[in-house]
Amino acid sequence: MQADYKDTLNLPSTDFPMRANLPLKEVEIKAKWDNEELYHGMMKSREGKPLFVMHDGPPYANGDMHIGHALNKLLKDFIIKSRNMGGYKAPYIHGWDTHGLPIENQMIKKHGQSSGLSISEFRNRCEQFARENVAKQMGQQQRLGVIGDWENSYLTLLPRFEANQIRVFGEMARKGYIYKGLKPVYWCPHDETALAEAEIEYADDECDSIFVKFKVIDDKGMLTPYTGNLDNVYFVIWTTTTWTLPGNVAICLNAEFSYTLYKNDNEYIIIATELINNVKKAAEIEKLAPIAAFTGAELERMKTTHPFLDRESLVIVGDHVTLESGTGCVHTAPGHGVEDFAVCKNYPELPNVVPVDEKGRMTSLAGKFAGLKTTEANKAILETLKESGNLLATEHINHQYPHCWRC
Ligand SMILES: [Zn+2]
Repeated sequence: MQADYKDTLNLPSTDFPMRANLPLKEVEIKAKWDNEELYHGMMKSREGKPLFVMHDGPPYANGDMHIGHALNKLLKDFIIKSRNMGGYKAPYIHGWDTHGLPIENQMIKKHGQSSGLSISEFRNRCEQFARENVAKQMGQQQRLGVIGDWENSYLTLLPRFEANQIRVFGEMARKGYIYKGLKPVYWCPHDETALAEAEIEYADDECDSIFVKFKVIDDKGMLTPYTGNLDNVYFVIWTTTTWTLPGNVAICLNAEFSYTLYKNDNEYIIIATELINNVKKAAEIEKLAPIAAFTGAELERMKTTHPFLDRESLVIVGDHVTLESGTGCVHTAPGHGVEDFAVCKNYPELPNVVPVDEKGRMTSLAGKFAGLKTTEANKAILETLKESGNLLATEHINHQYPHCWRC
């Protein structure tokens, strides 16, 4: 005999339809709420209750809502509805971010870079585009069942909003919370704009990694007992970004590591003892004779001369120096890297050199390489180093290099 399992279950009986049919049902529910003016009615009924104010971080008005917006708005809607039911008055003022490069980029794409639009006309088009997208997203949010004071939404382009921003900023400045300083940021020479960390994508790039000799000019009297003089004594740095060499002001060692002075034919080179095989392999040197060993701390504040600019490069120490690659003597350009910038702060006498302009061209600070694009400078600097004898070795490698996600 076949059992009818349905009879063994104690199911509730309900008038709900078997199928939810949400695409139709939700529209009906929304229409009912609109009819009842649900939000305004709710606010009226909460009059006099303690306020619960949630500030809405605004979505950006440049396209349709995506699933991330939906999650964000639904969670906020849960909070608003539950707080109102839990004894508070919890208004919901929706906002939109209507400023910024993505909107401008869309308008440049639409009208062309040289459309002949005046700046104010271009701004008007941007505003129009932003407002269209606000209207579109507002409809999509409402369709999610999210409630709020839609008639009083805030847009960052509204004059009263901008005026308040200035007021708040002024207040912060008066209280001494605002200061001006420097730090390196990623920069796209194509878009000519700074890039946030989130706007960087890493991809494989081929490059020439180079081992460069920096001639010692002040050894604190510690090397000449072994070398006789400083005519041919060098620290060897390693880098994958040749174009940043004009920004070099220092060579960074790890204070704890052991560094060895090696004799190579008629010259002396200093590298981290543990990385000798790296250098031997790259430079195709069979033998390097160890002469003396020092800690990084002992070598600190020796001075070298920049391989092609009239500038000193100071030997400094920092914890970020590792033995993963290179020579343990790190090319340090505070204008080009956050770690370099941070470590150079410990040596206030070091200048902050940024020899590249906003279009990605070398400036006069780069000497004879002024005017070259960074990619062109890579080749030209390599040639110069070869000619001057400062290039110990070069290796063609694939490395991870930051790229602008926009272009
Ligand atoms: Zn870009």
